[in-house]
Amino acid sequence: MTDITAENRGVGRNPVAPGAGRTVASAVPQSLVARLTRGIVAGEEAERQENLAPFTGEPLAELPQSTVADVEAAFARARQAQQAWAAVPVQRRAAVLLRFHDLLLKRQDEVLDLIQAETGKARLHAFDEILATAMAARHYGRGAAGYLRDRRRGGAVPVLTHTVEGRRPKGVVGLISPWNFPLELSVSDALPAFAAGNAVVNKPDTQTALTALWARELLIEAGLPAELWQIVVGDGPVIGPAVVERADYVSFTGSTRTGRDVAQRAAARLVGASLELGGKNAMLVLPDADLDRAAEGAVRACFRSAGQLCISIERLYVHRSVAEQFLARFTARAKAMRLGSGLAYGADMGSLTSRRQLETVVRHVEEAVKAGATVLTGGQARPEIGPFFYEPTILDGVTPEMSVCADETFGPVVSIYRFDTEEEAIEAANATPYGLNSSVWTRDLRRGRAVAARLHTGTVNVNEAYAAAYGSIAAPMGGMGDSGLGRRHGAEGILRFTEAQSIASQRVMPLAPAFGLTEERFAAMFTSGLKLLKAMGVK
Ligand code: NAD
Repeated sequence: MTDITAENRGVGRNPVAPGAGRTVASAVPQSLVARLTRGIVAGEEAERQENLAPFTGEPLAELPQSTVADVEAAFARARQAQQAWAAVPVQRRAAVLLRFHDLLLKRQDEVLDLIQAETGKARLHAFDEILATAMAARHYGRGAAGYLRDRRRGGAVPVLTHTVEGRRPKGVVGLISPWNFPLELSVSDALPAFAAGNAVVNKPDTQTALTALWARELLIEAGLPAELWQIVVGDGPVIGPAVVERADYVSFTGSTRTGRDVAQRAAARLVGASLELGGKNAMLVLPDADLDRAAEGAVRACFRSAGQLCISIERLYVHRSVAEQFLARFTARAKAMRLGSGLAYGADMGSLTSRRQLETVVRHVEEAVKAGATVLTGGQARPEIGPFFYEPTILDGVTPEMSVCADETFGPVVSIYRFDTEEEAIEAANATPYGLNSSVWTRDLRRGRAVAARLHTGTVNVNEAYAAAYGSIAAPMGGMGDSGLGRRHGAEGILRFTEAQSIASQRVMPLAPAFGLTEERFAAMFTSGLKLLKAMGVK
């Protein structure tokens, strides 16, 4: 663990936050790793993969790797457990989520250590995952019974046809999650799946599997039957498809490239899939924005979790009349951000999670600078803090031929663009195949919401970066265009894990000529009936 206390290496560079005094090795001892990895479906002789702790680059854990046969076994166990679980009343299933909520809040420090050890993010950013996961547990814990209850629907013939729409579990959900939000992106999709009566076979990213394994233990403590959540770990292009090819429904979060592959495999099997994919999200600062609030918001929007957040902002459009004032505020705040690798609150930003992420960030920035972009702040790796640290970076003068302009960087890098009219800003923000999240800053909320409605993204935050929409757990969240298919959160977030079933019972007379009616009389009677129903306003 790097422990550079008050030293501030390099003039004008981001200061370093004090260390925590605890090391990753002491916070995540090998005894804990051994206990957690027993939750992976893999044989005794399984191959193992070594994970590094991003803060230090030192070994963190060796994880047994599942084979395709292990995936098969995981599905068999999950299928068996699901039968009994589906028969448990929904209120009792949902009660597990509420107990999990309380346990999570109580034991948060354990998982904050794990998340930081596996991802290298700052503790406050790891806490975002506690917030989002607890909200999902509360929402579906309280709301599942309402979302899933039987609903009376208008029958074919009023009074004579009694119709009820019911919701049945899909069966076994294949849940594939990335490394950037390891608690939230495994658990908060699993929770509504369980509440709806499903089992889950989850393939977390190997880098962050310990966090998912910890969450599984906690959910079992909260009352979830152990066999209901199976965790397999292994090479994405091998184990991922093995999950997709056996699942009754797929919930995937990851890159757009992998998402397309998942979609094709699911489509070939005629099973549904929700895909939460990448983004190149835009923030618009309108001329009447509160510039201090907007600058603070931009720091959260661009540098939370070191920009490794699907809904973080990588394109920032500022009205020309306020651009210099806004940039002075934003740049000063970004420069003052303290980087740190401590297992305690205090750092404003942590590390990138892997060498691969660092390489993408370096490539995007170097390429842009070579082609004429200006670095307003940042633009440097900080290996003296940890091997994958990179400064919060603001680029100006970015042009369309640079990768950073249109490709997702997934790092702490934002490009600034100026606009003269609202139309121009909206058009520029929408000029991307992605459509995940956006952010609009203005003192006029009505204007903000009008602009928001014209942005092609699944969520829009007015006077906030991303958390207002993401945290509105009762409302759907997801992407348009290349950012995905389907939604998490709200009604869609749980109903996707169910099959709709309509049960209609017919009384008194059949829907056919009967009681001596000729076919002509039957047709005439129903013709009059249809006209009457329309006149009466029946839907
Ligand atoms: P990735 O697509 O490489 O991997 C995601 C998961 O899929 C991992 O578990 C991986 O092992 C697995 N995988 C790899 N190949 C597979 C295959 N052929 N079939 C099935 N599964 C396979 O993505 P990543 O780099 O780990 O994650 C970062 C990406 O995720 C970014 O693009 C980010 O924007 C996106 N993301 C989106 C959301 C959202 O809610 N929209 C949230 C977080 C991250």
